[in-house]
Amino acid sequence: MRVLITGGSGFVGSHLSDALLAAGHDVHVIDDLSTGSIDNIAHLKPHPNFGYTIDTIFNEQLTAELVDHADVVFHLAAAVGVKLIVERPVHTIECNVHGTEVVLRHASKKKKLVLVASTSEVYGKSTNVPFQEDADLVLGATTRHRWAYACSKMLDEFHALAYHKERQLPAIVFRLFNTVGPRQTGQYGMVLPNFVRQALAGDPITVFGDGTQSRSFTYVGDVVRGLMALMVEPRAIGQVFNIGNVEEVTIRALAERVKAATGSRSEIVTIPYDQAYDAGFEDMPRRVPDLTRIRNLINYEPRVQLDEIIARVVEDVRRH
Ligand code: UDP
Repeated sequence: MRVLITGGSGFVGSHLSDALLAAGHDVHVIDDLSTGSIDNIAHLKPHPNFGYTIDTIFNEQLTAELVDHADVVFHLAAAVGVKLIVERPVHTIECNVHGTEVVLRHASKKKKLVLVASTSEVYGKSTNVPFQEDADLVLGATTRHRWAYACSKMLDEFHALAYHKERQLPAIVFRLFNTVGPRQTGQYGMVLPNFVRQALAGDPITVFGDGTQSRSFTYVGDVVRGLMALMVEPRAIGQVFNIGNVEEVTIRALAERVKAATGSRSEIVTIPYDQAYDAGFEDMPRRVPDLTRIRNLINYEPRVQLDEIIARVVEDVRRH
């Protein structure tokens, strides 16, 4: 198949490109390098079935052309990372809402299968753990900019599902849960690459809040396997899927495990949320996916667990 990946030189997109090419597909990436990096796809440039365009999906003519040439579109281009989102709320909203609008409109004209990336962030402050796809989504006040990201992604989901219902666009929505692995940058706030970098440098490991909040980290290779299976499963069309891992860890325990895995002497320090992010910042205490739906449909099961994930990220950060 000919696959277009928006945001394909980002962390997840570049791993997806690797896997699709290895499976014999043609891959074309469009990325404006706002958070993605050309280094992520540099190794793919010589591949005969790989192509890329450095431009924005806001370029309608170009996006229309690229969608036209594809059989399937993975729409991953988005503003991501809590730090980036809190610092640049206008960019976040415009990029996530308008960018998706452009992709969906052109995919719809040609009825191309489109898989839209969403996020576990949409569950917001819900305490109804594990999170099931049809459960209520609980967001905070509009003065808390973090929720603009969740809201923009919710609108993307509504939009994709609306195109499916009203205009028969074959669309699939997937919600990612703290995807981690090699190539992920800590620049936009993500916790694991930051902890590993701090531990290896002997710098303080910065736990935000009291560290009792927990997350379920998912290895990027497991995410990519799930996405490739959804792509060829017609029954997935018109549905929303969690893709994650149920192994849960508190952020303090994560800091300790990173410290042990690196043999680091770094001190583990706690930083109040309003210093780490913004006054009045709200975090979610737990975030665990219910995987029943994706398990039942494509037999999805994450294979790489947290200790192995940490080991692979440590190796990657050491190498660079
Ligand atoms: N976090 C932290 N130290 C850091 C970066 C993040 O303690 O240097 C915390 C953050 O407050 C959150 C968790 O780690 O509770 C996961 O943060 P991340 O930004 O990776 O993803 P999120 O789940 O918030 O989208």
